[in-house]
Amino acid sequence: MEHSQTAETTTRRQRPQTGAEYLESLRDDREVWIYGERVEDVTTHPAFRNSAQSLAELFDAFDDPRYSGKLLVPTDTGSGGMTHAFFRASRSQDDLRAGRDATEVWQRLGFGWMGRTPDYKAALVTGFGTNPEWFGEFADNARYWYRRTQEEVLHIGHAIVHPPVDRAKGPDQVRDVFVHVDRETDAGLIISGAKVVATGSPLTQYIYVSHFGVPLDNKDFSVVFLAPTNGPGVKMFARASYEEVAARTANPMMYPLSSRLDENDAILVFDEALIPWENVLVYDTDRVNRLDPESRRQTRGIFQASTRLGVKLDFLAGALSKALDITGTGSFRGVQAALGEVIGTRHVVHGLRDGMIERAEPGWGDGLDPHFGYGIAYAALAPKLYSRARAIIEETVASGILEHAISGLELDDPELSPLVNRFLRGSGDRSALDRAKIMHLLWDAVGSEFGARHELYELNYFGAPEANNLGSLAVAKNDGTLDDMRGLVEECMSQYDITGWKNDRFFDGTDL
Ligand SMILES: Cc1cc2nc3c(=O)[nH]c(=O)nc-3n(C[C@H](O)[C@H](O)[C@H](O)COP(=O)(O)OP(=O)(O)OC[C@H]3O[C@@H](n4cnc5c(N)ncnc54)[C@H](O)[C@@H]3O)c2cc1C
Repeated sequence: MEHSQTAETTTRRQRPQTGAEYLESLRDDREVWIYGERVEDVTTHPAFRNSAQSLAELFDAFDDPRYSGKLLVPTDTGSGGMTHAFFRASRSQDDLRAGRDATEVWQRLGFGWMGRTPDYKAALVTGFGTNPEWFGEFADNARYWYRRTQEEVLHIGHAIVHPPVDRAKGPDQVRDVFVHVDRETDAGLIISGAKVVATGSPLTQYIYVSHFGVPLDNKDFSVVFLAPTNGPGVKMFARASYEEVAARTANPMMYPLSSRLDENDAILVFDEALIPWENVLVYDTDRVNRLDPESRRQTRGIFQASTRLGVKLDFLAGALSKALDITGTGSFRGVQAALGEVIGTRHVVHGLRDGMIERAEPGWGDGLDPHFGYGIAYAALAPKLYSRARAIIEETVASGILEHAISGLELDDPELSPLVNRFLRGSGDRSALDRAKIMHLLWDAVGSEFGARHELYELNYFGAPEANNLGSLAVAKNDGTLDDMRGLVEECMSQYDITGWKNDRFFDGTDL
């Protein structure tokens, strides 16, 4: 049975896909369900269409001279073309800096509100390129997907967590739900089961399916692959769409974020789906358990995510500052300190991210990785920082966040307009429209269903915070940091004992 991708089955290209090509690729009969109905075309359905456009905008930025200089670097695949800087494996600190800058350009286009942009998944796939041999019989597949992802800048989603069902049982006992191999065929593996959460997957081209969590001992579950999003038997059950609610109940001013940046958190289901052998990367218990610890794919994911959160905090700090202009409380000392705390939080995130570059360490194969210790500490602490920023906004803008009572239409109404302009104005000479615009924006960011989902996202998207704190401890034990910390304390304690100081520099008080 031939398991590897040896033929060059796709056309080589010198430039990443364009926005139009990306959108066209989504019109492929993929099976997305929402509200119990099958979506005919995700690019035109009101639940997804604006978010699809927001992603297309990222691809169009490659051809925009305002952004292309920071986005593009030469490929390392031999294509002679250009790619997004984070889609090329990092082998130097300059590569990491270029990846950071490219991610930042993309994130600023979405104001930091889309987490699963294509560059997040690049974090996983670029690992294939620095160490393809690791994949054994699937090494050519690793090379193929690295090359293709880089040259086309594919949009790949990922789902790596078993659904929260019968958590106390082993996978064998939850075979009816957890992703597993049903059988092998000449064409590939027949897969059934569900994975969560496949955020943004309805708008992806492929979905990376892997394992995270308790080590596996059954080959049937030990499979890592790239599922074609439109493959037969691949189904996505999408949650209620904030984009569609916004479109049906309001205008863009009232939901300026959720109406276009809603990454739908779908549940991914395989119902006897055929995954071609060319798309398989791991199919054995030993490798599946070693993949995350050895590839440390998390490090690059955290690196992208911290850049994203940095932009989001820039945005929140700016929005808070502008809201305070409206409420007229921005000159109070306590309120200024609160804004300063959000700005400080932003600096902590940017600083940790840059620290990951400064202390970059040898990665998988010939790669150079962002510093893992800083990365996992970021992953554990970021949810608290984000929740704190959200709480500060709620404390300092307070009821003001809710005072976005107008849709804009009132200003054209001769009867309502004078009332609205008088009673709903902002501080100083700011108009009712000024007030409504910023307060709607802030409400969408932190108060709406979209805003609440973002706090849940920051809390959980990189695994449970408890697991990341355990990660910090494990890194410190492994790299000698904890020994160094303990050594510092031992050094202090070694300088005295019950009889007093052990050197004659200090006075022990016996003369008093
Ligand atoms: C908005 C959102 C978007 C997401 N997007 C993605 C995505 O795109 N791709 C993806 O793969 N995942 C995604 N995730 C899923 C994310 O990876 C998981 O939510 C995360 O790993 C936490 O796992 P869980 O939700 O299953 O919670 P659990 O792991 O079940 O944790 C819940 C609680 O139970 C405890 N617990 C669970 N199991 C044990 C155990 N065995 N022993 C002791 N305590 C236990 C935990 O400590 C925790 O307190 C997303 C999640 C959210 C909320």
